[in-house]
Amino acid sequence: MIEVRHIDKSYGSLSVLKDINWRVQRGQFWGIIGPNGSGKSTLISLLSGVEKPNRGEISLDGRLIAEYGRKKLSRKLAVLQQDGLPPVAYPVREVIEMGRFPFQNWRGREDSEAAQRLMDGIMDKLELNDLAHRPLHVLSGGQRQRVALGKVMAQQPEIVLLDEPTTYLDIRHQTQFMELVASWQREAGLTVVSVMHDLNLAALYCDHLLVLHQGRIVAEGSPAEIINSELIESVFQVQSHIVAHPDHGEPQLLLRKETSGKHGA
Ligand code: ADP
Ligand code: MG
Repeated sequence: MIEVRHIDKSYGSLSVLKDINWRVQRGQFWGIIGPNGSGKSTLISLLSGVEKPNRGEISLDGRLIAEYGRKKLSRKLAVLQQDGLPPVAYPVREVIEMGRFPFQNWRGREDSEAAQRLMDGIMDKLELNDLAHRPLHVLSGGQRQRVALGKVMAQQPEIVLLDEPTTYLDIRHQTQFMELVASWQREAGLTVVSVMHDLNLAALYCDHLLVLHQGRIVAEGSPAEIINSELIESVFQVQSHIVAHPDHGEPQLLLRKETSGKHGA
């Protein structure tokens, strides 16, 4: 589905991504993790076609990204950032309908009943009916990010790219957001690539992780395969205990206090 071959990216003399090779299969849920400045957002910008690599190529379903027009690419791939929508005065339902732009005609309209049913379904699923006519700028951060997700859903992409989508949300809204993405993924066979700020949330929801450190891939695989305290220490420079989640065994990270000293090892 997504194939990244020998990508290098630099800004001026700063080399940000170095020889990135990576494949994403249809229907997978990938998390990208790594410290600040490791190149995660840059990789998302390259995948979404916003930035161009200095070397190497990226293809979607066997075609180079550069060959897709803007509307064609929008039907294939949607992007949601940390703060998905600015606090503007547009009402919720209208903002979600804006997600349909790749399907609209030159008058900016789409009259089909199917499109209206799609909107109704999204409003229900995201529990936005009570907010339908409220302007975005009066919503809470959690509500606004849910609207941003709705707009992306209206786009009906095959791939969704998320860049730290839950960073500004409290823990209830973080889990709610990840649950919504996970159920959309299951129902639509969607491919998800999400930069994840919270490693525990990443290990719970992503079935594959890509670890970036100083612009290079240093590990990739399932959370259980790759998350261990040596990797976490070498990449994030923190000491941790990794424990299995009591429900389903996913690796979860407990930070060690510097003052607790080293035990055993
Ligand atoms: P991450 O998302 O992992 O925190 P980024 O991909 O945003 O990292 O940034 C990686 C490096 O590239 C950082 O050193 C950042 O300052 C630099 N960088 C990112 N975007 C630009 C840009 N448009 N111009 C110059 N430098 C940039
Ligand atoms: Mg970033």
